[in-house]
Amino acid sequence: MALEELLKELMLLRAPSGYEKEMAYRMRALFAAAGGETRIDRAGNVIAKFAGSAENGPVVMVCAHMDQLGFIVRQIEPNGFLRIDRLGGVPVKVLPSLKLSVRTTAGSWLPGVVGAKSHHAAAAEEKTKVDPIETLYVDIGVRSAADARNLGVEIGCPCVYEPSYEKLHGEMVCGTSADNRGGCACLAQIASELSQNRPAATVFLAACVWEEFNLRGAMLAAREIKPDAAICLDVVLAGDTPDLEGRFDTAVGGGPAVSVYNFHGRGTLNGCIAHEGLARLADQAAAEDSVALQFFASTGIITDSAYIQFENTGAACVDLGFPVRYTHTPGEVCCLRDIADLVRLVCGMLRRIGPDFNFNRY
Ligand SMILES: [Zn+2]
Repeated sequence: MALEELLKELMLLRAPSGYEKEMAYRMRALFAAAGGETRIDRAGNVIAKFAGSAENGPVVMVCAHMDQLGFIVRQIEPNGFLRIDRLGGVPVKVLPSLKLSVRTTAGSWLPGVVGAKSHHAAAAEEKTKVDPIETLYVDIGVRSAADARNLGVEIGCPCVYEPSYEKLHGEMVCGTSADNRGGCACLAQIASELSQNRPAATVFLAACVWEEFNLRGAMLAAREIKPDAAICLDVVLAGDTPDLEGRFDTAVGGGPAVSVYNFHGRGTLNGCIAHEGLARLADQAAAEDSVALQFFASTGIITDSAYIQFENTGAACVDLGFPVRYTHTPGEVCCLRDIADLVRLVCGMLRRIGPDFNFNRY
């Protein structure tokens, strides 16, 4: 399936953490169509095995999270307005007047909008301040709590940004959940490639749950796969906007990136220092296959690999990504070519991992 069509389809699916079924079923179909031995584990991870050509060859896991951030309904007001809380790292300042989709207990989706005090009635100081999420509310068009409940809305129902996909100039794309449907689109294309060319290593592709919530869905997949190495596909921050000048070298359209170092403090106290051999392999594969490669290192960020690296006797991990602007907003911007080149990069790495590859740190 062509990348653009695939990315659009996946970005328009609704799959908040804990409710990934729509994505999981689609990924299962894509993996199975490519001939992968595919199953969904108890947590909801979609895992597809592509046996390698070498007997007792290494096992490599390539994963991407398929969930997205959103909200949950915290309270239903007597007049039918919904109070919400965050499910994942939502930037609260973008929320007023935003369209949302609210999932009912039956699994269908209702349209809604985050209320914003009428501009004409707002005091001067209210016009420029960010409202905390506790004060926000969602309007689904009903007039009472009973009406909301009749539609299947209950406390705990998840919500997501109303899905969108827009093609900007050239190969630039803008919309919801580029994080991490771009990574999932890569997985699907890697599956097609594996169906044509079998590397020595046995490859498990895993579309994983819960990343935006607790980062530990992929951990369960790794526990079962027992990989020697894991390549984790997710976004990296693009530093090419006026507000991030001087922070990162990464640019949208500049190619995929190796995230050499990421770390998240504030209680998480975890991150990933890339396995040097795998980072070097990415560099080598990119150079030999003419893929432009960028490098990224930052605190404040964390991915699934932070937990995968602790499974079994420790998997060698590397984070690879495609640059994204305006992360976690409904208008994430990325470039189709970066995603296509990320596929080429990963396939190039998989081809080069032989039985003698050193998965130890040194
Ligand atoms: Zn992500």
